[in-house]
Amino acid sequence: MKATLTSQPTIFVIFGGTGDLNARKLAPALYHLFLDGWLPEQFAIIGTGRTSLSDEDFRAKLLKDINQFSRTGKADKAQWGRFCEHIVYQVADVKDAATYKEFGKRIEAYEKDWKTAANVIYYLAVAPEFFPIIASNLAKSNLTADADRTRIVIEKPFGHDLESARALNQLLGQIFNERQIYRIDHYLGKETVQNIMAFRFANALLEPLWNRNYIDHVQISVTEQLGVGERSGYYDGAGALRDMIQNHLLQLLCLVAMEPPINFTADEVRNRKVDVLRAMRRFGPDEVRESAVRGQYGSGWMEGEQVPGYREEVEANPTSNTETFAAVKFFVDNWRWQGVPFYLRTGKRMHRSSSVITIQFKDAPHYIFPPETAESWQQNRLIISIQPEMSIRLQVQAKRPGLDMMLNTVDMVFDYKGTYTTQTPEAYETLLLDTMLGDQTLFMRGDQVEAAWDLIMPILNSWEGRASQSFPNYSADSWGPETAEALIARDGFHWFTLPLNGKK
Ligand code: NAP
Repeated sequence: MKATLTSQPTIFVIFGGTGDLNARKLAPALYHLFLDGWLPEQFAIIGTGRTSLSDEDFRAKLLKDINQFSRTGKADKAQWGRFCEHIVYQVADVKDAATYKEFGKRIEAYEKDWKTAANVIYYLAVAPEFFPIIASNLAKSNLTADADRTRIVIEKPFGHDLESARALNQLLGQIFNERQIYRIDHYLGKETVQNIMAFRFANALLEPLWNRNYIDHVQISVTEQLGVGERSGYYDGAGALRDMIQNHLLQLLCLVAMEPPINFTADEVRNRKVDVLRAMRRFGPDEVRESAVRGQYGSGWMEGEQVPGYREEVEANPTSNTETFAAVKFFVDNWRWQGVPFYLRTGKRMHRSSSVITIQFKDAPHYIFPPETAESWQQNRLIISIQPEMSIRLQVQAKRPGLDMMLNTVDMVFDYKGTYTTQTPEAYETLLLDTMLGDQTLFMRGDQVEAAWDLIMPILNSWEGRASQSFPNYSADSWGPETAEALIARDGFHWFTLPLNGKK
């Protein structure tokens, strides 16, 4: 993990302290940072929400949440006792400017007690409609003036489209210095995602192959078995393109396609990622039809259970045009990647939950073996599996043991679980620690977010301007609509799926 540890006293103000994100992710992550010794001696967590709770009530709620969602199971009684002394709760309506004075007083009291200034991290775990009002109220109450000591963390989604993302960036820019703004894309905090950079840039053997001369195409596939469930209210206004492709999948693409940064500092890394987004080919209206496919799931059976279609789910609109599946073929127009297709797909209610990047290499230039061996021959593939399996596989051809010359595809595997015995930290642990340390490498810079929105706007506009006549067009427990197969099959490829425990 990190080479340096902050001893700087730190206060976390968690807007949305009573919400789902804090329960599932933030509170367990902070607890683990405490257990592993990453929090400074002097720290405080101020949770806020409109729900009326005492400090004791709030602590009891968080303990229940940690017991349910922590990666290490139930909290240790003694450790929890020490940790919870640092937690307080403040009832607050974020729209009420007076409550910010209360935050100010609490921060001052801690600093007086600690006899030193503290770093203050304002974490906005609330609905995006509240981001501007919280930022403005913090500024009005003079709580963010010290650019060295105050930071703001903004959750996903950052904007609803290019225009709203620009407006939010503009507003934040009037209040904060960019180095104070931490835009979360939690995918970037995942161990396996961070390892893409290590794998690419700490190993000399890949670089000569990592280009259009040797790579045939790239696939990035992030699929979920879950349906929209209780998030349908939010999801119906978003869809798969906004919810997944604009952020997580494009960030994975950037990690695969970026040029080597000159060093591992936040701006160098992010500059190289922005270069990729800027080099990506924009779609004209006709190209959207050719290169982007959408889908919406109907009802079906998943693992023996009948599940409703998207339009029948709670709060979903019975005639909704929202896509729950999207597949897009992108190109990166630069020297390295000219002509190499990047196929991205994501969907809900898919046959399996997995996040996998597949880099397929070109054919061997000349085939010297007898024709009958060609049957089982396939191109080399590098498969980076982010979840559930955490591994990197290189698929190569090998001679099958025997007296005749027969070829087989075999996997050379680096598997996290088999290689390391230490527990993998959750993405939010990494991201919260980086926020404390002031390291923005794994956070989205303003121009990155805008470049990603700019890229997908033609697809969004096209889809929103034209209702799909075919929805629902894929059934639960499938791999999405047939048109997604056709998108890649037209180029002579097929979507790769990683066999899971021998199950295809
Ligand atoms: P949530 O469960 O609905 O929680 C919303 C929080 O906002 C509650 O704590 C609520 O507290 C508070 N709140 C609402 N109105 C308020 C007001 N006027 N003043 C003060 N507090 C108010 O939402 P969530 O799932 O935690 O999501 C929070 C943010 O994280 C969203 O932007 C979401 O997109 C993002 N996110 C969530 C997840 C996740 O796993 N949940 C994952 C990725 C991103 P009271 O009800 O007590 O007022």
